Amino acid sequence: MNRAGLLVLGAMLCNVLGWTQNGNIAAKLGYPQTIVYNGKIVTMDDNSFTSAVGAIVQAMAVRDGKILATGSTAEIRALAGPQTKQIDLKGRTVLPSFALTHEHPTDWVFIEPRAFRHVLPNDDVIISRWMPNLPPKEQLARLEGVVKEAVAKAKPGQWIRVIFNWGPDYEWAAEMQDLFSKSITKAYLDQLAPNNPMTVKDGFIGSIANKAAVEVFRTVHPDLDFYTTGRRGAQPSEERIRRVEQSGNLSRPVDPDAMLKGKLPILADLLKAEMELWVRHGITAFGSGPYSAFNLQAFNLLDQQGRMPARFVWAYQGPAWDLETLRVMAGALGQGSDYLWLGGAFSGSGSGCMTIPEKPGWREEQGRGGEEGEGGRGGGGGENCTFAPGTVSREINERIIESGMRLAGVHTGGDKDIDYFMDSIEAGAKKAGMTLEQIRAKRNAFDHSSGAPRPEQIPRVKNLGMMVSQINTILWETHRGASVTAKQYGIEYTNWVVPRKSVTEAGIMNTMEIDRPLPHKIFFFITKGMNRYNDRDKQVYGPGERTDRITQLKALTRWSGYYFMREDRMGTLEPGKYADFIVLDRDFLTVPEADIPKIEVLMTMVGGKMIHLGADLAREIGMTPAGASTWTEPVPDGWIEKRW
Ligand SMILES: [Zn+2]
Repeated sequence: MNRAGLLVLGAMLCNVLGWTQNGNIAAKLGYPQTIVYNGKIVTMDDNSFTSAVGAIVQAMAVRDGKILATGSTAEIRALAGPQTKQIDLKGRTVLPSFALTHEHPTDWVFIEPRAFRHVLPNDDVIISRWMPNLPPKEQLARLEGVVKEAVAKAKPGQWIRVIFNWGPDYEWAAEMQDLFSKSITKAYLDQLAPNNPMTVKDGFIGSIANKAAVEVFRTVHPDLDFYTTGRRGAQPSEERIRRVEQSGNLSRPVDPDAMLKGKLPILADLLKAEMELWVRHGITAFGSGPYSAFNLQAFNLLDQQGRMPARFVWAYQGPAWDLETLRVMAGALGQGSDYLWLGGAFSGSGSGCMTIPEKPGWREEQGRGGEEGEGGRGGGGGENCTFAPGTVSREINERIIESGMRLAGVHTGGDKDIDYFMDSIEAGAKKAGMTLEQIRAKRNAFDHSSGAPRPEQIPRVKNLGMMVSQINTILWETHRGASVTAKQYGIEYTNWVVPRKSVTEAGIMNTMEIDRPLPHKIFFFITKGMNRYNDRDKQVYGPGERTDRITQLKALTRWSGYYFMREDRMGTLEPGKYADFIVLDRDFLTVPEADIPKIEVLMTMVGGKMIHLGADLAREIGMTPAGASTWTEPVPDGWIEKRW
C-alpha cells in the first residue's frame, strides 16, 4: 500500500477505536494474522514492459488470506494486534510466489514419486514401482523381474504401475521414448500380468495399459475414444476405439479415472500433495486442462474442504463442443472460488508445423513422423497443421471464440499453426460480430511458444491482444525444443523458440511454464531463459532472445495474474491481493546469475497460510516446519532431485 492508503487505514482504525472506546472492535475488524518485516519485499507493482520491479518495501501485513498493507517496518508493525505473528525477515528477499500458466500437477503426481509416496507410502492401495536411474536398456531388462515381484504381491484386482526413469537431467528421455514405443506392447504386459490391471509409463505422460486395465477403464468410460485419443470434439470413431483397445494407450485419464475409480478422496490427497511439492519450490498457481473430470472433482473436493494448498485455473476440454454448450461455459469464464476457477477452453493441440522447410534428410534420419503437443518436438511440417482450414480443431477454435469463450491452455508448436490459430480467432470473432476491443478483452492465449511467434507474426499477436505462455524448459532439453529445431530447420531459427525478448518488447504479456515434473529446477530454468545456453549441446540458441532476470520474473508473477484473469487479486504484492509470497535465502535481484539456480525457497505462504516452511527458518522464527520439506517417506532409488 502506498503511504496515503496506509494513513487512511490508520485513520479508520483510530476512528473506530475512539468512537467505541473498545479495542476489541479493532480485533473484530481484524488485526493482521501475520506481519513480515525487516525484509526486501519486491512488490512487482511496476506496470511497464521494462525491467523495473516497482516498489520495494520493508514490511507487509496479511489478514484473512489477503495483503492488508505494505510499508516500512515501523508503519506495518504498528498495525499488529496481540495475536499477530510477527516474522523478522532479517533482510531477506520476498517475491510474489510464482504462477505457471501451463502446468499439469494432475500428470506429474503419477510420474514423480515424492507426493505419491507421501500419500500412499506402501503397497496397500496401489503397487507402484519406479525404475532406477539407469540406461534405458537396463531399465527395460529389469521390467520382467519388477512386474513378477509385484504380481506375486498383488491382491486380486489390485492395480500395479511401473514408471520408467528419464534421469534427473532427462539424459535418457529420447532413448527411453524410442525404446518404450518399440518394446512395450499391451500383449507383452498381458503376458507379464495376466490378472491384475497394470500400466507402464514411459517416464513421462505416455503409458500402456494391459487388458485388465482397459477393462476397468471401460467400466468408467465405455467410449474409449474420449480423451484417450485426443479426439475431444469429433464424433466417436469405431476405428479409433479399436486402436485404443489394441494398443492399451489410455493416455492421461487411466490413473485418475480407472486406477482410482471410486477413490476420489485419495485422488484429492494425491493432488494436494503434488501441489504442496511445487509450493515448496515457490510455485503456487497452475493453469491447465484437468484431463479428467475426476481430477476436477478432486480439486473441487479439496476446495470445499478448505484444503487447496495452491490455485488451479482450469481450461474446459470438452466433451461437448456445440455452440450452445460453449455459450454456457463462456458465462462461467473467470468464475469459481479463490482457489479453483475457469480460465478458458481448448481442444486440439497445435502441431509442430512450420512455414520454413526442414533441412534435407532430417525426416529420413529421424525415421519418424511429426508429433504434437507437450513442447512441440517439431515435425509435422507440410500441411499437417492441427488448425488448418477444414480440420475439427479449427472448427472448434472458431466456435470457442464465437461463443464468447476464451481460447487458453492450448499446447501449440510451429508458427504455421499459430497463423491458423489467429485466423480462427478472427473468423470466430467475425461470426459473433465482436469488435477488436472485445477480442482483445478476451486475452486469447497460446502456450509453449516452442516455434512461434516468428518475428513477423508478433504485430498480429499484439493487435489481437493475445498472451503467450512460454516454456523455458525446451531451451535446456535436447530431445525437444531448440536443440531439435537447430537440427531440423537450422540454428538461425532457434530465436523462434521462446522468443521472450521480442514479445516483451512488443508489449505482449508472456508467462512461464515448466510443463515437466521438475519443480526443483524453476530457478535453473529462469537462467535458461536468461542465457539460452544449452549445457549439453554447448550452444546458445537464439542469443537475441536472451532477457534479464526481471523479465523472467514478470512472466512468473505479474503477467501470469493477467493470464489467469485475476490481475486484480494476484501477481503482485499489493493491498487487497492474495497473500501469496515466497521468502528466499538469497537476493534474486542481485545474486550472480550463476548462483540463481541455487536459490532456496525458505517459506511460501498461499492465501496467508503457511504451506511451506523449511526447518532452519522455522527454528529461527519459532514456528513448526510445514509442507513438502518435512516429508519423511523414502524416495525410490534414482529419483533424488539433482542439486546444485
Ligand atoms: Zn502441457
